[in-house]
Amino acid sequence: MIKVGILGASGRVGRLLLEDIKIEDEMELSAVYVRSEQDFPLEKGVTVTNDMDAFLKACDVVVDFSLPEATQALLEAVMDNPKAIVSGTTGLSLHQLNLLKEASALMPILYATNMSLGVALLNKLVNIASRTLEGFDIEIVEQHHRHKKDAPSGTALTLAESAAEGRSLDLDKVRVSGRNGNIGERSADEIAVMALRGGDIVGRHTVGFYNDGEFVELNHTATSRNTFSKGALRAAKWLVKKEAGLYSIADCLDLS
Ligand code: NAD
Repeated sequence: MIKVGILGASGRVGRLLLEDIKIEDEMELSAVYVRSEQDFPLEKGVTVTNDMDAFLKACDVVVDFSLPEATQALLEAVMDNPKAIVSGTTGLSLHQLNLLKEASALMPILYATNMSLGVALLNKLVNIASRTLEGFDIEIVEQHHRHKKDAPSGTALTLAESAAEGRSLDLDKVRVSGRNGNIGERSADEIAVMALRGGDIVGRHTVGFYNDGEFVELNHTATSRNTFSKGALRAAKWLVKKEAGLYSIADCLDLS
């Protein structure tokens, strides 16, 4: 049995992980990290702790859907106690992404801003479309529920990376994240990434390629957060047998 520890168990995705793991026959929940009080039901025998080292000792693989500061605390603690880690936390700073890379020299880490199969395929399609549809303007729009804290979404930024890579562009130099006022005409290379927030939208991403006379729009819509929790558990099962390194969801799904 693979022992799974969850960071962010009380969150929207975390609560689904607690449910989905019950139907797994090769994995069991062994530990949950809590900041203060446990405010959700758990079966007996699960280590519930606010001590990161005790949490790590109680599991073979960590599944993390939390917030950047919690992921950072995990990455700092894990240097002394290497574990397989599947992290879906978005909005990581450059420093936190560097910590992730450093840690992956010692342990297998799968980091994915979106754990769904559909978005993994969408990234591939966007890369191909960006290369093929030379001269088309690229615009990305993402929509999420009103509680989402980071913007634009990690998924939208990954899609923008896939689009930029298709045209050998440096995303930092061409990304536009808002337009207002008398800003002049659109430049040829810019890739816009716009965020809308409202209601209970689980996640909707549209990557548009616009030209004179025609346009192509590639869209993915998540209708349930289970697509993320189930995807993360599938990734955990796959990752636990891997050597140290930084893996993507495309690696796990054989889409690389
Ligand atoms: P949420 O706000 O509902 O839950 C966050 C969880 O993190 C809570 O359990 C909270 O207690 C915990 N947490 C926050 N700060 C902490 C700290 N300092 N120490 C320990 N625990 C802490 O959020 P959510 O909607 O479940 O999303 C969690 C993360 O996952 C976000 O970054 C979100 O963008 C991301 N996400 C990723 C995917 C994906 O497929 N990769 C899908 C959905 C959401």
